[in-house]
Amino acid sequence: MSAGERKYAVGFIGVGKMGLPMATRVATHGYPLHAYDASAAALAAIRAVSGVTASASLAEIGRDCEAVILMLPDSAVVKKVLFGDKNGLAAHLKQGSVVIDMSSSNPSVTRELGPRLQAAGVDFIDAPVSGGVKRAVDGSLAIMAGGEPAVIARVKPLFLTMGKSIVETGMLGSGHAMKALNNYVSAAGLLAACEALKVGADFGIAPDKIVAVLNASTGKNNSTENKLMQFIVPGSFNSGFSLGLMKKDINIATDLAQSLGSDTLLGEVLLKSWADAEAKFGGAADHTEIYRMLERNAGGGNK
Ligand code: NAD
Repeated sequence: MSAGERKYAVGFIGVGKMGLPMATRVATHGYPLHAYDASAAALAAIRAVSGVTASASLAEIGRDCEAVILMLPDSAVVKKVLFGDKNGLAAHLKQGSVVIDMSSSNPSVTRELGPRLQAAGVDFIDAPVSGGVKRAVDGSLAIMAGGEPAVIARVKPLFLTMGKSIVETGMLGSGHAMKALNNYVSAAGLLAACEALKVGADFGIAPDKIVAVLNASTGKNNSTENKLMQFIVPGSFNSGFSLGLMKKDINIATDLAQSLGSDTLLGEVLLKSWADAEAKFGGAADHTEIYRMLERNAGGGNK
């Protein structure tokens, strides 16, 4: 029996909006799951899932698990969890175990962390996801995996409990680079879709007609299909992905471009748009609230 077929113990650190449904899927596929989160409320929610042990510390996760998934806000938190102090996870991991960072992290930090874990006899890969809470719940996430192909192959059965598409992107950090670039494209598509919706509505066209035309035409994108009628037109703004996290991803993409000397024309506009929205609504607001920056006197371009 290959290692991939065994239902080995899996640690899951960060069981928030995405981590909760992802960890639930891993547990319901028979992997003994040990969860840890800094939030007692998040831990209480995952404890209710059958087959899950709520761990009291990172040391317990390191001691008990063969593979550890991180689904944390950003690279600063990932670094703190791994190496933050003497109770950081890295000090407790078993030789031969694997850490999988599924958070949307910064690829340059990921590339620093890999050799440090390797020195402790621990494998490290990056495998961020796309698809949001809905696709985390139904197990159809897109996963982009960077790192050693043999390590990715070892944990592929685990990925298949959470995702449908697994694209191996190359060296360590390349998954995180692709995730940021994907969200750069997604942010641009969302902003363009919001602007078309606002201008069309101001002209007197019914919102559902605007969206119907976009979705039958060349302007169709993920936001026109999955965000305008679902979260923006009804004003519910509850997609489950925060404004602050989207701004972080745009930042990673533009920093990456800058570090490589690549020009982006949209980068500055996207960064300023999301920074202004974060200043106005707070980082915890839903990312679809970017639409509200187009409302009169919102502080966006429409004064
Ligand atoms: P979230 O804020 O809901 O969850 C993050 C969890 O990490 C929280 O439960 C928090 O308590 C926990 N946490 C924070 N610091 C910690 C620490 N030091 N130790 C242990 N736990 C800690 O965020 P989310 O929306 O689930 O996003 C998680 C990651 O996934 C982010 O990197 C995000 O960019 C990415 N992502 C989110 C979505 C989405 O639709 N929400 C989609 C794709 C990718």
